[in-house]
Amino acid sequence: MEDQEAVSRAIADSDAICPLFVFDPSFYADSGLACDARIQFLEEAVASLDRLYAATPAPATHVSATSGGHELEATTESAMPASDPGGTPPDTLQCADPPGLTIGYGDPVDLLARFVDQGWNVVTMATPTSRYGQRRDERAREACGDAMTFVSGDGLVRDAEWPRSDWQPQITDWLAASQHAPGWDDHDTVRVAIQTSVTPALVDRRFDIMPTKTKVPVGTHRAATTTLREFADRIRSYPGNISAPQDARDGTSGLSPYLNFGLLSVRQAHQYVDENAPSCRGAEMFESRLVWNLHYNQKLVDWPGWTEKAVNPVFEGQNEDRHDDSLITAWKQGRTGFPMVDASMRCLRKTGWLNFRMRAMCASFFTHILHQPWWIGADWYHHHLIDSDVGINYTQWQSQAGLIGKPSQRVYNPRKQVRDQDPDGEWIAEWIPELAALPSEFLDRPEKAPLAVQDECGVQIGETYPRPVVDFEARREQFWSRYERQRPVAARELRRQKIAKRASFSGGYNAARAIAAKHGDSEDDATKGTQVALDELSGGEAANADPPPSESSTTDTRDPRDTSADLDRSPGQTPIPSGTGETAGEPSPDDRTAVEGQQQPDSGDDDTSAEADAEPTGQTRFGDFE
Ligand SMILES: Cc1cc2nc3c(=O)[nH]c(=O)nc-3n(C[C@H](O)[C@H](O)[C@H](O)COP(=O)(O)OP(=O)(O)OC[C@H]3O[C@@H](n4cnc5c(N)ncnc54)[C@H](O)[C@@H]3O)c2cc1C
Repeated sequence: MEDQEAVSRAIADSDAICPLFVFDPSFYADSGLACDARIQFLEEAVASLDRLYAATPAPATHVSATSGGHELEATTESAMPASDPGGTPPDTLQCADPPGLTIGYGDPVDLLARFVDQGWNVVTMATPTSRYGQRRDERAREACGDAMTFVSGDGLVRDAEWPRSDWQPQITDWLAASQHAPGWDDHDTVRVAIQTSVTPALVDRRFDIMPTKTKVPVGTHRAATTTLREFADRIRSYPGNISAPQDARDGTSGLSPYLNFGLLSVRQAHQYVDENAPSCRGAEMFESRLVWNLHYNQKLVDWPGWTEKAVNPVFEGQNEDRHDDSLITAWKQGRTGFPMVDASMRCLRKTGWLNFRMRAMCASFFTHILHQPWWIGADWYHHHLIDSDVGINYTQWQSQAGLIGKPSQRVYNPRKQVRDQDPDGEWIAEWIPELAALPSEFLDRPEKAPLAVQDECGVQIGETYPRPVVDFEARREQFWSRYERQRPVAARELRRQKIAKRASFSGGYNAARAIAAKHGDSEDDATKGTQVALDELSGGEAANADPPPSESSTTDTRDPRDTSADLDRSPGQTPIPSGTGETAGEPSPDDRTAVEGQQQPDSGDDDTSAEADAEPTGQTRFGDFE
């Protein structure tokens, strides 16, 4: 309700408002993409919003669904049961009595159209959507016509030919501007609540929502503000707690589900920290990450196709011919034989959360080492993450999978991650109990533990814990070999406006063109046949058979071309990204301008240890990479 322009605008412009939430059955049962824990988090958030509205100072009118002419419980779907069959719902799903929020169930477009027929206008926030959400919003626009307004008040740039021109200053201004406040005291707006029989608890029961995940945060506004307050108090220790997964669990803010479901706006979090936290590197790093949230969501606004297609057409269909169910299952179940990957994947399934580094490592492993199609992994994350934000998850996946056409790419080494992030094996023991007795020096490669050691500690690699499902080095070389053949063609594609728009670099079209000019092949090369044809580049055994590139096999991040020089820069323009990254994890290298000036690697912090087995390539090192 706070810092929601749709709400404050509706209160300012109307005599009466009717805050409405519609449970859409498409998000439930087999048609839904979310795990039960995320669904319940949403239900809790709706109940919490209902209680918030009920407590507002506005004069309220309560009408029953039938007397008000709105049979909200039944639209195209069958009606809710008349009463809650399952007894008392959990406290977090309790609604106010009388209600603050009108809660409906069914196809939201049908329901909104019926409100419009009765003379209401609909005001809602525009949110970055794709797939079903995008189609639903289009249908709503069509069905409600002029009575429907999507308000753009989340800082993102819409309806511009090149939304990334001048993006950073706009975001900076938005973050500093006053929050939207619901002006209950300034207007005589009446709040209408239509009493329906639909409640979050009832929907929860109807679909047998039974979360099995542990450590899931509670979806209430109070929990959101408490989480923010407590984080601001310990923000000095944030930089040192980002990289190791066991430290990150309580060391990063834990705010992502609240930001994703709108219990807190990015600006509220930013301003709270600005005003209440000590001025320190932790605060700077956190504020940059909030900008990254906007940066990735801007990408989805700029191109809703991120969930379905590779940004760069050169990579469309990548790895589809290598699809291997057994490898995918091993990855999902945490049984690949690579302990850091397996611990992460088990933790994701069990808790719905992972820190950035582990998310990135497992995505990299899935695409670069297992050679599986990126979208299968992205959908798996989307299902399990409590904080799954379509605008971040899918854009991050494409970036980690190397589908953009940037000149450099990172391949994580999960063995090195054990040595760097979990040298004592504390986290691995938590998630892979069958390895708990193995001395920690063998945890990076359990299959190398001598048989005598295995016997002594009762761990049998190949029996109690799997051997590696693939040969890491060989797979990595196959990836590099293929990638280095594809890269010049992919870079060239960035010259095309359509592709540059999709990629949505913070440096805009100039950044895309600069990459194309420096790293792309020329059309001539391609037509003369000095480059491989696009269809050959999509993979295949021939590509795999190529000799490995000359760099050391321990290199994680590669760009054999010298990218250290600054790319061309027109006067007055934002610096053009060099294609390499200096900031922690993301934004991706080409998007550096999104955070420019906000974060500089600082050798004193724990998370600046870098990818120590990444050879210097003459580029900016990934000094602050999470
Ligand atoms: C493959 C992959 C998928 C991801 N999917 C999601 C997702 O669905 N939802 C999501 O919120 N984050 C996602 N992230 C980014 C990041 O891992 C999470 O934001 C972070 O782990 C959430 O924990 P936190 O709130 O404690 O983070 P903090 O470190 O406390 O960060 C504060 C906030 O900043 C934003 N943020 C932090 N890191 C990033 C980042 N790298 N990119 C964009 N925003 C960032 C988030 O809103 C986060 O809540 C993904 C990263 C990868 C590599």
